[in-house]
Amino acid sequence: MSKYAIAIHGGAGTILKSLMTPEKESQYRQGLKDAIEAGEVILKNNGSSLDAVEAAVRSLENNPLFNAGRGAVFTNDGKNELDASIMRGDTLEAGAVAGVKNVKNPISLARAIMEKSEHVLMCGEGAAKFAKSIETEFADDSYFFVQARFDQLQEAKKTDGVFLDHSGEANAEENKKKFGTVGAVALDVHGTIAAATSTGGMTNKKFGRAGDSPIIGAGTYANNNTCAISCTGHGEFFIRSVVAYDISCLMEYKGLSLKEACDEVVHKKLVKIGGEGGLVAIDAKGNIELPFNSEGMYRASLKDGEGIEIMIYK
Ligand code: ASP
Repeated sequence: MSKYAIAIHGGAGTILKSLMTPEKESQYRQGLKDAIEAGEVILKNNGSSLDAVEAAVRSLENNPLFNAGRGAVFTNDGKNELDASIMRGDTLEAGAVAGVKNVKNPISLARAIMEKSEHVLMCGEGAAKFAKSIETEFADDSYFFVQARFDQLQEAKKTDGVFLDHSGEANAEENKKKFGTVGAVALDVHGTIAAATSTGGMTNKKFGRAGDSPIIGAGTYANNNTCAISCTGHGEFFIRSVVAYDISCLMEYKGLSLKEACDEVVHKKLVKIGGEGGLVAIDAKGNIELPFNSEGMYRASLKDGEGIEIMIYK
């Protein structure tokens, strides 16, 4: 039996200690702790990495601090459109949902698409129709209303900008470069890895825009032979760089280690085209990497027999 391990993120971007209050920082830390513990309890009891990443992401989706599920940012027309994806490394099965509204836990809908349909990706109204057919939990608009997020939308509209933001503060210039998405990767005692990602995307997004988070190979990927990855950052760049699958490919075809592959993609390839963000990564030996090329990334990791590490800044 292998040892288990898990890593999570709550978004990357310009997260500066100088802009954070001690109170807010401790709320973020607590949110990360709750989420990683929700995954750990499953892994500790010989549960699957798939269950663990789903549980960790659900916990972050239920926390209004993070840009996913309940705390999702607002679209240009004042709605919350949610994206999520999940993948298991043993069978390469995957499920994803894009632009769905009022679904309480989009990550569980992504998993249901993987397990209960013959498809990988469902979008918008069709996805909602499928969700209803399998008794997914819905919540009304008020559940997703977070005042600070709404203020961010008003701010973004003033300049018609698109913010990638999770901080909950509407005015700071720095906020424009913050990213928000949540995700998890894990290795279970059976030797299988899995990845899950969920997001509200970008504040003020229009036209059914979807980022990398629901795209298998871009924002999420898992393969027992290489690694499991969950990304956060400027989605358009992550799609164009096929980030998650590229890291897997560098390991599979070029024989790079997890660390070498992550460095290549996050610190070289993405930087070259101006793609800001980061990711959490794990391999089947339980190695964990948490690289990012932005100022900070909400993140936590834990290995069997070791304590939880929670980090925010560089
Ligand atoms: N990657 C997400 C997107 O582009 C946003 C983020 O991670 O902050 O939708």
